[in-house]
Amino acid sequence: MKIVKTIDEVRNIVNSWKKDGLSVALVPTMGYLHEGHKSLITRAAAENDRVVVSDFVNPTQFAPNEDFESYPRDIDADARLCEDAGAALIFNPEADEMYQDALTFIDMNKITKVLCGKTRPIHFSGVCTVVGKLFNIVKPDRAYFGQKDAQQLCVIRKMVKDLNFDVEIIGCPIIREPDGLAKSSRNTYLSAEERQAALCLSRALALGKAAVDAGERDAEKVVEIVRAEISREPLARIDYAEAVDFNTLEPVSEVKPPMLCAVAVYIGKTRLIDNFIV
Ligand code: AMP
Repeated sequence: MKIVKTIDEVRNIVNSWKKDGLSVALVPTMGYLHEGHKSLITRAAAENDRVVVSDFVNPTQFAPNEDFESYPRDIDADARLCEDAGAALIFNPEADEMYQDALTFIDMNKITKVLCGKTRPIHFSGVCTVVGKLFNIVKPDRAYFGQKDAQQLCVIRKMVKDLNFDVEIIGCPIIREPDGLAKSSRNTYLSAEERQAALCLSRALALGKAAVDAGERDAEKVVEIVRAEISREPLARIDYAEAVDFNTLEPVSEVKPPMLCAVAVYIGKTRLIDNFIV
């Protein structure tokens, strides 16, 4: 497995694979990789001949008040995990290599303005821009994204459709800690007490899901169950808890597929997200 830092190197390597008729997958990440990322890479390696992992803390998706500077980084550990999971190449560029003097950015209406987009207004423009650039650099046959970031998955699918990117988007299930907490690079910010408190997200969503499984069809009641459970945790502050259509991200009143029940919750200063899909 190789680690490269320039766009030219990625293009040369991928071109040589394509000449040999090999299929290529992309797994975009911000590094500090864990079992959640690993599940994407492992699946990509099972379904494609070569896997490229991009490992890049993308500055354009962070607002000035957010955690770009403090976001955890460990490229050596990432390299070991990628090698283990069967990746062929890590693309680990500097911000200048990706943006230099860029003036062009991808913007999307509507579905980027709701849920996480309300508190993070520039976030999805940064995500779309970097993922669009990665698609143009790597030209993957398939790209793998986690359902953990359900809105991101929805936004990327829409971007691919709207801008005619020639890539298949594969959504992958959420990987959790044994106690239910969704794995996230940001979990490292949590103190021991906050780590315990953070369990309220998965606990609340499990209660909401159980109500759905027991036949509840009123989406607002499901959201109420989720909110009530999170509100019992003194260290938690709800950013949002909503039930929406997973394609349009518009609020739904009736529980029916494809419904996304998603939450964002501050545990202390750390903002965590989690969800389930019906
Ligand atoms: P990130 O490095 O946080 O930008 O995540 C890179 C990719 O890994 C995204 O597609 C995420 O949805 C996915 N991912 C992150 N955490 C998990 C998880 N716990 N389970 C599954 N996929 C995940």
